Amino acid sequence: MGLIVQKFGGTSVADAQRIKGAAQRVVQTYREGNQVVVVVSARGQTTDELFSLAHEITDNPAARELDMLVSTGEQVSIALMAMAIHAMGYEAISFTGAQVGIVTDSHHTKARILTINTKKIKEELNKGRIVVVAGYQGVDAYNNITTLGRGGSDATAVALAALLKADLCDIFTDVDGIYTADPRIVPQARKLDRISYDELLELASLGAQVMQARSIEFAKKYNVPLRVRPSFNNSAGTIVCGEVKEMEDVVVSGAAVTKDEAKITIRGVPDRPGQAAKIFKELARSNVNVDMIIQNISSHSLADITFTVPKAELKAALEATKRINEEIRAQEISSDSKIAKLSVVGIGMRSHCGVAEKMFSTLADEKINIQMISTSEIKISCVIDEAQAEQALRAVHKAFELDKVRA
Ligand code: ASP
Ligand code: MG
Repeated sequence: MGLIVQKFGGTSVADAQRIKGAAQRVVQTYREGNQVVVVVSARGQTTDELFSLAHEITDNPAARELDMLVSTGEQVSIALMAMAIHAMGYEAISFTGAQVGIVTDSHHTKARILTINTKKIKEELNKGRIVVVAGYQGVDAYNNITTLGRGGSDATAVALAALLKADLCDIFTDVDGIYTADPRIVPQARKLDRISYDELLELASLGAQVMQARSIEFAKKYNVPLRVRPSFNNSAGTIVCGEVKEMEDVVVSGAAVTKDEAKITIRGVPDRPGQAAKIFKELARSNVNVDMIIQNISSHSLADITFTVPKAELKAALEATKRINEEIRAQEISSDSKIAKLSVVGIGMRSHCGVAEKMFSTLADEKINIQMISTSEIKISCVIDEAQAEQALRAVHKAFELDKVRA
């Protein structure tokens, strides 16, 4: 007998039929002899609708009241899920985040979980009940309802799994599992049976939106085994776990492309100590999240600095850059939002060489120009023209033979 946390995302509980289907999966797991904690998201587009509703009232809703509002989506889901389980003849009880003591900091709309009082959940489990917990929400030290950032039900599920020392955390979603690339772009993409936390983290941050990145970090830290699986059929999904030796034999596990970033170039920055520090300090002060950074020295002791930021933050980033440039006096500031970032990811890269060469020559063969390059231990990313994003992803997927099943 084990303890399993099962999380159902918005699409998996979108309507009555789907809620009943999800309840069946839960009951099946319970009947197999497990204790089950269920975490649910708001139904379908509910959270988006609630945000829109707030913005119909005012352009600038108070963060505390936003949390009060958007957290209601999950409260609806837990009650319906508990009812669906009752209707099948099993005992279940639903709780909001506050009711089970999911205590967070006070950063409304992006709070972090500090502690969870697992006593109540354990008591209910020991009574033989299925416990249904609202995802995405908690309560701060002053009893204010908080939410955990978009996609935050994953955080609830993983945190509960960690603290309850669950044997497994099932993430039910509308995809079959984790793929070698987005199957909508690469029809030959293949579902992976297993992937490491680090690889999934890289892919998640690249826009393979399977799970909230912060939750994957948490799962890694507490070594919570995850299984990303479809809610609409019985296929096995993908296990996300710590590294095992065999994983290193696979040089590249996945590829992804994102069009979420824009780049800013500052040309002719006087090449002296402290300039980059000034620029990035100003960007940080404006809450801009910088991703890739490249600097090179051009002639006459002048440097060029190029960096990427989320498209949504481009305006703020440009303003910050112009502001600081009054002090720095670089020659020219330009930006381009028509870029894409293509990446290949794999823990095997640590011990194999030639990955960069293969990626670059694949792009060269496709006549795709590389504008920026950055690498980490397990990832190589290239910034390219947005119009060539899909073509590039397909080419790289093929070059690394990601469509081929490995022994
Ligand atoms: N309902 C919340 C959202 O849409 C949380 C979640 O789905 O995980 O972001
Ligand atoms: Mg959602």
